[in-house]
Amino acid sequence: MRRASFIKKVREGYYGPFEFFQDFPDEMACENEIYQLKYPEGFVCKKCGCKTFYRLKGVPKRARKLQCRDCKHQESLTANTLFHGTRTPLQKWFYLIFSMVQTKKGISANQLSKELHIDETTVLLMMTKVRKEMEESIVEYQIGGENCIVECDEIDIGGKNKEKQKSLVLLERNSDNRNGRVRIVPIESKSYDDLEKVLIPVIKKGTILHTDGNPVYKKLHTKYNHHFQHKPVSSWEENHKHEHLDQLNKIVGNLKRWYRGMHHAFRIKNTGYYLNEFCYRFNRRRSEANLFTNILQRSVERPKILTYKTFSQSKPYSMLAA
Ligand SMILES: [Zn+2]
Repeated sequence: MRRASFIKKVREGYYGPFEFFQDFPDEMACENEIYQLKYPEGFVCKKCGCKTFYRLKGVPKRARKLQCRDCKHQESLTANTLFHGTRTPLQKWFYLIFSMVQTKKGISANQLSKELHIDETTVLLMMTKVRKEMEESIVEYQIGGENCIVECDEIDIGGKNKEKQKSLVLLERNSDNRNGRVRIVPIESKSYDDLEKVLIPVIKKGTILHTDGNPVYKKLHTKYNHHFQHKPVSSWEENHKHEHLDQLNKIVGNLKRWYRGMHHAFRIKNTGYYLNEFCYRFNRRRSEANLFTNILQRSVERPKILTYKTFSQSKPYSMLAA
């Protein structure tokens, strides 16, 4: 019953901290939520098919375990979910997800570390796991299509030092001239080969592609209905040079402000995760109230497990490698 009322409140568009703590006052409530997402038809033992189980409680090691009544097979409630193997209380996890999606401008690891009484490194790993969950895979979310414009440009994101993350920004413009979805994908270099790795799988055939005059895009003439803007030669042209990529530049401005606002120490290897979050939020800007339930659902139904080993390696994260 709890889940039904929780979703109703989210749908009605008012889901603040007060509602959150009403719905998830303790660990049990969070465990129930995961149980309902993981076993929507009820628990069925994988070994013997029995539908009755006990919850093992009391001993910390046994917490969150379900045991089949007949064959005593044990299953962890959080196994193969975002919360796999975590020692952090689920309520803190839920609150972290809630805070990340609830605040419009995002929340910093430092702030959450204070609120949750967890050290900042652990919070950062937890947040990165959630950002990985926000990933929209290239194949799943193609953009463009017949008579649809996609604005395309390369950008650098980074701090004041020389280290910058090159990324490709693709913005869909619907036929009514409104912004559609955005994809921002880290790339290794601005060479045609690297751009193509993102462009071709992401943009549908028949799309009208808008780019700047960078010669690297010339090869796309044969693949898309390609319009490009050459380098401005007069002051008038200089002043109007962004018309072509007008909306895209606005979004890139927002991205850079958002990124600077919540991120103090720039680490190139983590930029891709932040881009996931930015695109995820932007693409769901008309259904903000659903973000919290959506992340919980993704976390349990199709988690993208990020191990500490992957997180701590020096290689930059890229969804292309995933
Ligand atoms: Zn069994």
